[in-house]
Amino acid sequence: MNGQTLIDSHAHLEMKQFRGDLERVLERAHAAGVSHIITVGSTIAESRRALKIAEKYQEVSAVVGIHPHDADDADDWALEELSKLAVKKQVVGIGETGLDFFRDRSPRELQEDSFRRHIDLAKRRICLWSFTSATLTKELWKSLKMKGCRKKAA
Ligand SMILES: [Zn+2]
Repeated sequence: MNGQTLIDSHAHLEMKQFRGDLERVLERAHAAGVSHIITVGSTIAESRRALKIAEKYQEVSAVVGIHPHDADDADDWALEELSKLAVKKQVVGIGETGLDFFRDRSPRELQEDSFRRHIDLAKRRICLWSFTSATLTKELWKSLKMKGCRKKAA
């Protein structure tokens, strides 16, 4: 592989299709030169499973979120659940989210609201990373507030 590192940045190892042969899938990926896989949850249940897989295999990280097709599931409870998952060290991002106006399996207003909630969660999570790796000065706090960060994330 010429010293290159391959990272699969968007896999769905948490889906039921991989339950029977996950170990073999990881072995094949490794043999093909993939050194790390980011598995992306599309529901709360799949996000939890993505985290479990990432906790078990060091070559896997998780992203947690709710797919725009299921935007009506992105209520307060769900976002609180995602928020709890998002602070785990194996979770490297928020998703699967966005807008799918091609298939429109969820009303567009709900997709937009869900997308905004995911962005807000991602902003708060970035704050957590910043706070754990830096000394919080008045100037830093001021700039974090300008980015929409909240003090409770400290
Ligand atoms: Zn996906």
